[in-house]
Amino acid sequence: MKEKILKILSAGDEYISGEKLSNLCGVSRTAIWKHINNLKEEGYEINSQSRIGYKLIKRPDSLLKTEILQDLKTKKWAKELLYTFEEVNSTNKVAKKLANEGKAEGTVVVAEHQSQGKGRLGRTWSSPKGKGIWVSIILRPHILPTKASQITFVIAVGMLKALKNFVNLDVKIKWPNDILINTKKVAGILTELSAEIERINYVVIGIGVNVNQSQNEFPLEFRDKATSLKLASGQEIARVKVLQAMLEEIEKAYNLYLAEGFSPIIDQWKQNSFTLGKEVKVLMNDGEIEGLAFDVNEDGCLLVKDDDKKVHTILAGDVSVRLVNGDYA
Ligand code: ADP
Repeated sequence: MKEKILKILSAGDEYISGEKLSNLCGVSRTAIWKHINNLKEEGYEINSQSRIGYKLIKRPDSLLKTEILQDLKTKKWAKELLYTFEEVNSTNKVAKKLANEGKAEGTVVVAEHQSQGKGRLGRTWSSPKGKGIWVSIILRPHILPTKASQITFVIAVGMLKALKNFVNLDVKIKWPNDILINTKKVAGILTELSAEIERINYVVIGIGVNVNQSQNEFPLEFRDKATSLKLASGQEIARVKVLQAMLEEIEKAYNLYLAEGFSPIIDQWKQNSFTLGKEVKVLMNDGEIEGLAFDVNEDGCLLVKDDDKKVHTILAGDVSVRLVNGDYA
């Protein structure tokens, strides 16, 4: 009902009487009044004038269900399967629980704040309240578990397209899972897998996007290596719009992958790669290697050629890759 009222109020910029709203929605005027109050509590600015009616003045930039679903152009994702929270420990944790309960592909979990946002290899992901998009998506692809690492590439390609709508600068993908603007990290992707030997139960994709942070709102440890869409574009950005673009573009990239396989994805990935063609240092559990990152293979492994022309196949799971010149860590 709230959605319907909002849609009617959004359609024009005239006042709409309580009576007209109640006729259009088929509920009493008191019910309309209650819904309007509820919307105001959620942050919608609505003018009410006795005898004249209601007028929507401003929508909140909150990741509310009503906002996210309004004009969302996905085929399926989030449409029936959207969970929004003020605060969670980690959206991936919540999504994994929902996936274990059997929730379908395309289920989306989003929160205003994560108290324990996660990066790869047990690292933390800073997720301040109201400043970014902290979202997880449940996928159930019919692919072999050994191919699951390809999903991170699919997501990165979708993310790239989505973020390019909001900044005029180059957006690049750093292998395996970061999105950079001007060599600084604007978003990260964390792919978690639940599988049997031959079959994937589910994949949970966690994505964190820095949207409206100022530089001093990033923790000191990585302040000089992080950026936000606001910093990159010079203006505040509506988070709901970014989330909608992400869901639409990632769903498209995923459907392309299911229909045509990895090759169109990896082509687009390579065209926008930050890592390929650069000298890198790979830190592994048992030592490190240096060399030229010259390609990515079918399994999403990074191929690095060292000074002796030996090719090393690097799996994302257990390494950290740094540029040798120290530009970006
Ligand atoms: P890596 O880039 O080394 O693979 P991850 O993808 O696992 O690392 O991301 C975690 C790391 O990213 C953290 O250790 C921290 O340095 C950095 N980081 C954490 N939160 C953010 C954020 N909101 N924006 C940019 N960088 C972040």
